[in-house]
Amino acid sequence: MEFEKKIAVLGSTGSIGTQTLEIAREYKGIKIEAMSAHSNIDLIEKQAREFKPKMVCLTNEEKAKDLKIKLADTDIKVVQGKDGLIETATADGADTVVTAVVGISGLEPTIEAIKAKKNIALANKETLVTGGHIVMDLAKENGVEILPVDSEHSAIFQSLQGCKDRREVKRILLTASGGPFRTRPKEELYGVTRADALNHPNWSMGAKVTIDSASMMNKGFEVMEARWLFGVRPEQIEVVVHPQSIIHSMVQFADGAVKAQLGMPDMRVPIQFAFSYPRRLPLSVERIDFTRFHELTFEQPDTRRFRNLALAYDALHRGGNMPCIVNAANEVVVEAFLHDRISFLGMSDVIARTMERVSFVGRPTYDDYVATDAEARRVAEELVTSGGTPTLNP
Ligand code: NDP
Ligand code: MG
Repeated sequence: MEFEKKIAVLGSTGSIGTQTLEIAREYKGIKIEAMSAHSNIDLIEKQAREFKPKMVCLTNEEKAKDLKIKLADTDIKVVQGKDGLIETATADGADTVVTAVVGISGLEPTIEAIKAKKNIALANKETLVTGGHIVMDLAKENGVEILPVDSEHSAIFQSLQGCKDRREVKRILLTASGGPFRTRPKEELYGVTRADALNHPNWSMGAKVTIDSASMMNKGFEVMEARWLFGVRPEQIEVVVHPQSIIHSMVQFADGAVKAQLGMPDMRVPIQFAFSYPRRLPLSVERIDFTRFHELTFEQPDTRRFRNLALAYDALHRGGNMPCIVNAANEVVVEAFLHDRISFLGMSDVIARTMERVSFVGRPTYDDYVATDAEARRVAEELVTSGGTPTLNP
C-alpha cells in the first residue's frame, strides 16, 4: 500500500529534514508542498528543484533574495523570515507539517499550523518544552494529531498502540544513551571540548541536539516532551541509561507488563511511522542482529555529573514558565559552548542561575512565553559574558 501525504517540512536542510526527504523520495505518495531552511541556500535550491514544492522559505532574510534569484526560472514562491515560516507551516494543500527546525523558532509556526488544522509530525521538542500546554490544548481543540518523531517518543507511542485507557499506564521508561561522556569522571568534564561533545556514540544529528545529548539536557527536554505528549505526571517518567540505544523506550502497564520498541538507531523509522501510522511500510534500514548484542545494559542516570537532568525535573515540577526559562538559557549556553565561550559544566551553572533570576509566571500565556524567552536570553547572555561562573574555561 502506498500512503498519501501532503507535507510541509520546516527545516528541510537539517538532519531530520533531509531524512524526511529521503522517505519522500522512496514513497511517491508523499508530496512536498512547502519547505524551509534558515540559510543553506545551495541545499534548499537543490531540494526545491527535486521535490518541486509550491513554496520555499528562507528564514534568514538577508539571503532570501539570493534564493529568489536562484529559483527565478521556476514557479516556486519564495518567502522569507518569521512570517514566511508561518506561511510555510500553514501552506494550502499540506495536511501534515514536519517541525524539524531547531529551538524555540518552532513554537509559533507549530501553533499556527495547528490552528490551520494541520497534523504535526513533531521533531522540534523545544516546542513542547516551552509551550507544551498551549500546543496540546490547541491540538485537542482543532482535532489534529501530534505524532512524535523523536525516537523515544515514537517508541512510547508505538508501545501504547492498543492501550484503550491511559490509566493503565504506570510508568514511562525513557531510555538514554548517556552520550559521549557517560563514563567520564566529573573532574574530566571540566575540560571537554566542543569536538568531544559533538562526537555522539550512536546518533548522527544536528549540532544543537548533539550538545544537548552530551549534557543530558536533551533527556531533560524529552521528559518534558513525554509529559505533554502522553499526559503523564513527571513522577511517572523514569530515565534509564541504556548505552546500546537498541531499546528506544518502554511503557510499563498496571499489570507489570512492559512493552518496548527496539531497532537499530535510525531516525528514518520514527519519521516514516509518523507518516504511515497506523500502518507499517517497508523501509530499507539495517535490521537488528541480536547475536551481535551479547548484552543490553541499563544504568541510573548520574545527576551529579549531569546536572541538567535534575534542573529539567526541577523546572517541570515548578511548572509555569520555568521550562521556557531553561530552554532559553540552554539555547544561549549551547551557542556559547559551540563558540568556545563557555565550558561544558559552565552551561549548567548559567542555566541554574538564570532560573533563579527570571520572573516566574505561574500560568503563562503565549505572550508571557515570548517575554520570558527574551528575558531569559538576556540574563543568560549576561552571565556568559561576565564569565562569573566558577567552571568557566580559563
Ligand atoms: P539541524 O541543526 O540539523 O537542522 C535544523 C534545521 O532548522 C535546518 O534546516 C536549519 O536550516 C533550520 N534552522 C536553523 N536555525 C533556524 C532558525 N533560527 N529558524 C528557522 N529555521 C532554522 O537540526 P536537527 O535536524 O538535528 O534537529 C531538528 C529538531 O529535531 C530539533 O528540535 C531536535 O531537537 C529535534 N530532534 C532531532 C533528532 C535528530 O536525530 N537530528 C532526533 C530527535 C529530535 P539551515 O540548514 O539553513 O541552517
Ligand atoms: Mg530523542
